[in-house]
Amino acid sequence: MKCTYNFSAGPAVLPKSVMLRAQGEMIDWHDSGLSVMEMSHRGKHYMSIFEKVESDFRSLFNVPKNYKVLFLQGGAIAQNSMVPLNLLNGKKANYVVSGYWSKRTYQDALPFGDMSIAASSESIGFAKAPDLNDWKIDPSASYVHFCSNETIHGVEYFDMPSIKTIPVVADMSSHILSRPVDISQFGVIYAGAQKNIGPAGLTIVIVRDDLLEVASPLTPSVFNWKTQAENQSMINTPTTYSIYMAGLVFEWLIELGGLSAIEKQNIKKAELLYNYINSTDFYSNPIDIKNRSRMNVPFRIQNEDLHTSFVTGAENLGMIGLKGHRLVGGIRASIYNAMPIEGIQALVDYMKDFEKSH
Ligand SMILES: *Cc1c(COP(=O)(O)O)cnc(C)c1O
Repeated sequence: MKCTYNFSAGPAVLPKSVMLRAQGEMIDWHDSGLSVMEMSHRGKHYMSIFEKVESDFRSLFNVPKNYKVLFLQGGAIAQNSMVPLNLLNGKKANYVVSGYWSKRTYQDALPFGDMSIAASSESIGFAKAPDLNDWKIDPSASYVHFCSNETIHGVEYFDMPSIKTIPVVADMSSHILSRPVDISQFGVIYAGAQKNIGPAGLTIVIVRDDLLEVASPLTPSVFNWKTQAENQSMINTPTTYSIYMAGLVFEWLIELGGLSAIEKQNIKKAELLYNYINSTDFYSNPIDIKNRSRMNVPFRIQNEDLHTSFVTGAENLGMIGLKGHRLVGGIRASIYNAMPIEGIQALVDYMKDFEKSH
C-alpha cells in the first residue's frame, strides 16, 4: 500500500481495525448470508445493528435521556436550512461567525428570517474564535448557532457556551467524539460523519425533546426532526451502510476507553505537531494559542513558494491530503481520532527534513 497516512480533512482516515472488520463482514454479516448493504433497513438483522449503533453512540457521547439522536442525510450543509426550518418558529436567530463554515451557515440561513451576527472574527481573518463573553445574545431569538471547530481555519472552542436564555445549536462536524462534551449545554448538535465518525452520507443530529414542537410546516418530512424522531430516523431508507460503519467506529472508541481516553491521545498528537511548528520560524500557524484546533492544523511555510513542493514531497512518502483548502492555501494536517500518533511523528520528521533541505 502506497498511502501510509491520510491527512485529508474529509472524507478522512478511518481506523485500520475497523476497515479490516468491515472487510471480514462484507459478504456475509454474522452468518446472515447477506452483506449489510443488501439488508432491508426494517429487517431484524439491520434493526439489531441500528439499535446497537444508537445505544453505543448514546453511551459513548453521554447523551441525556431527554435528547433524540437522529441518523439523517444531506450532510452538515442540509442542517444549515433545517435548523431554521425546525427551530425558528417565526422569530429571530443569532449566528456566531468564526470561520468559513459558520459564515456559510449564517448565509444559508438568511432567506429564512431575521438572522443576526452575535459575534464575528472575520475582521481579524478568523485568527481566534469570538470570546464567549462577547457573544451578543438576543434573549428573544429562537437560538444561537456556532461552529465549535472550524475545519478550514483550524479554530476550535475548548470552553463550550453555557447560555440559559436561548438554545445553543452547534455544528460539531469536524471534532465530534474527539473529547467529552456536556450535551446538556446544547439544544441541538449536528455533525456530518465523514470527518470523525465514518463514511460520508450520514449526518447525526442530537436534539433536545422540547425543541421538537415548532417546525415550520414547510419543513421537508425527511428533514423534520420530530417526524424522524417518531420513526427511528426511518421515514425513508437511511444510509444503512454508513450507519453500520459508524457503529464499528463507536465500538472501536468504546474499546479504547471512550472519549476521555481518545482526548488524551488527541492532546498528545496535537502537541507534537504544534510544538514543532512553534519551535521554528520556517513554519507558522496563525491561530491564537487558546483556539488552536486539535483536529485541523493549518500551517504555512515562510517562503510561500515552497508549499507545492512540500505537499508533493509528502505524497512521495505516502502522506496524503496535506494541501491546504483552496480558500486559504498553505498546508493543513487533519489529525482526527483515527490518525495514529506515528502518522504525526512521520509528518514532523518530514517537516524537519524539509526545513533542513530548504
Ligand atoms: C465538512 C464540514 C461541513 C460540510 O459538511 P457536508 O457533509 O459536506 O455537508 C460543515 N461544517 C463543518 C464544520 C465541516 O467540517
